[in-house]
Amino acid sequence: MSPEFKERSVCGYCGEYKRCARLILAKPACELCRLRFSRAPKTCPGCGEVKVLAFYDSDGRPACAACTGAKPVYGCATCGREDSPFGRTCGPCVLSERATALLADATGQVRPELLPVFEALMAARRPRTVLYWFHRSSGPAILRAMAKGEIEISHGVFDRLPQDKASVFVHELLATVGVLSPFNSRLEQVTPWPKNHVMGPRE
Ligand SMILES: [Zn+2]
Ligand SMILES: [Zn+2]
Ligand SMILES: [Zn+2]
Repeated sequence: MSPEFKERSVCGYCGEYKRCARLILAKPACELCRLRFSRAPKTCPGCGEVKVLAFYDSDGRPACAACTGAKPVYGCATCGREDSPFGRTCGPCVLSERATALLADATGQVRPELLPVFEALMAARRPRTVLYWFHRSSGPAILRAMAKGEIEISHGVFDRLPQDKASVFVHELLATVGVLSPFNSRLEQVTPWPKNHVMGPRE
């Protein structure tokens, strides 16, 4: 961040007179425009990876920091990837952290029996969908209780839980990933979260 851009100036993207702390493609960018830009990564013409193309390369093409020798200010603070921004880190890093916390036993690591669930969550096409599910469903609490050993990991335990969409979904998830044996579920009628969101390859 060069000192001259700490001042207010006309944002080269929205045209408003604001504090513009960063140059994007050689134009001052305000915080909002910077955020918008960092959330729209594209395929870099230099390395072919999906990156934030905020710099010009020697051919005058928008390219990533790595290909232009610029500071990698758009990378995830944990893993460096730029294709799935989620605050200071990326979607997969946030998901990995929260899924580990959800499925951890007393050691702080994912309970071994639940590793296939962790892998299925991590394989979700959209990490944000899973993160949303963590907050909006009562299903994750069932997984948490299983991870802590408060309830057993079995078909029988679901007979004693409320028969709502969330518990049917978790029951089906455990069978789909092989933690429990297959069973005839009612998922087709009640799924709150289409199966391909859990099991499909990431986009
Ligand atoms: Zn702006
Ligand atoms: Zn590149
Ligand atoms: Zn990351």
